[in-house]
Amino acid sequence: MKRPLAQWGVMALTVICVLFAAISSIKVMGQLRSTQEKLDKAQLAILSAQKEIDEIQKSREEEAKAARQKALDEKKVQEAKEAAEGASQEREVQEADSDDAQTEEENSEGEEPSNSFESPSNGIMVGIDPGHQGSWVDMSALEPNAPGSSEMKARCTTGTTGNYTHLEEYQLNLDVSMKLRDILESRGYQVVMTREDNDANISNAERAQKVAEAGADIYVRIHANSSDDTSVSGALTMSPSSTNPYVANLYEESYRLSEVILDYYCQATGIGNRGVTLTDSMTGINWSTIPVTIVEMGFMSNQGDDTKMADSQFQQTMAEGIANGIDAYFAQ
Ligand SMILES: [Zn+2]
Repeated sequence: MKRPLAQWGVMALTVICVLFAAISSIKVMGQLRSTQEKLDKAQLAILSAQKEIDEIQKSREEEAKAARQKALDEKKVQEAKEAAEGASQEREVQEADSDDAQTEEENSEGEEPSNSFESPSNGIMVGIDPGHQGSWVDMSALEPNAPGSSEMKARCTTGTTGNYTHLEEYQLNLDVSMKLRDILESRGYQVVMTREDNDANISNAERAQKVAEAGADIYVRIHANSSDDTSVSGALTMSPSSTNPYVANLYEESYRLSEVILDYYCQATGIGNRGVTLTDSMTGINWSTIPVTIVEMGFMSNQGDDTKMADSQFQQTMAEGIANGIDAYFAQ
C-alpha cells in the first residue's frame, strides 16, 4: 500500500511541476510578447523621431540657403542702387541746364503709369488716310476729281496686293496708319483718321473733306506702290504741282511736307528714296484744303520691299519714320 501511495505522490508532484512549468512558460511567453511589442513600439518611436530630426535638419538647411540667397540679393540690390545713383548723377550733370528734362521727370513722377506715355497736347492736328478699303466695299460710283470739275473718277479704288506676301494694300495701309496714329498721339498730336477699319465706305473727296472739317493742319495719305517691273523698289511721296488748277496755293507747303516726310521715312527704314512726284490728277489731293501728301511707302511688287513692309516690327519703324518727318515739318 505504501509504494503506490508514494508513486501517487511522485506523480502528483510531477503533475504539479509540469503545470507550474507550463504556467510559467505561458507567463514568460506573454511577457516576451509584450516585451516584443514594447520593442516594436520603441523602434517606431525611434524611426519617427529620426524622421523628425531629418525634417528639422532639412528645414534648417533650407533656411540657411534662403538666408544666403537673401544676403546675395540684398547685395545685388545695393549694387544696382549704387549703379543707378551713379548713372542719375551723371545724367544730372549732363542735363543740368535743360528745363525740358526737369519737366519730363516731374511729369513721369506725378502721373499714373497708364498716362506715362501720353504727352500734353502740342495743339497740332494731323489727318491720316489709310488708303483704299476692303475689296468687298463697292466704291465704283463716280465723283468729280476736284471741286467743280467735270472729270469723274471712282469714289475709291481697291489698291494693290503683295506679289510675294499676298498682303492686301488696304490692310498694310491701315496697319501702318494705326501705328502712326499711336505714335503721333504719344508725341502730343491730335489725330483724325479717315477710316479705322476695312469696311469703311468713304470716298477720296469725302476723306479730304472729313480731315479738314475736323480741323487738321496737314493731311497725310498712306499708300503702297506697284509696278509691272518687279525690280523697281523704293519709296516716294506725291505733292500737287505749282500749276494745279485747284490747289496751287497748297503747293509750297505740300511739297515741303512731302519732302521732309520722305527723307525721314527713308532714313528710318533704309528703303530707297525715289523723290517727290508732282501730280494733279489725284482726287484726294485736289479736294484738300490743307497741305497734303501721299506717301507711297514701297513697292509691293518688289520682293525686298514687299517682305519688309509685311513685318509688323518693320511697320513700326515705317510709322516712326513718317512721324519723325511730321515732327521735322512743324519744327521748321
Ligand atoms: Zn494705294
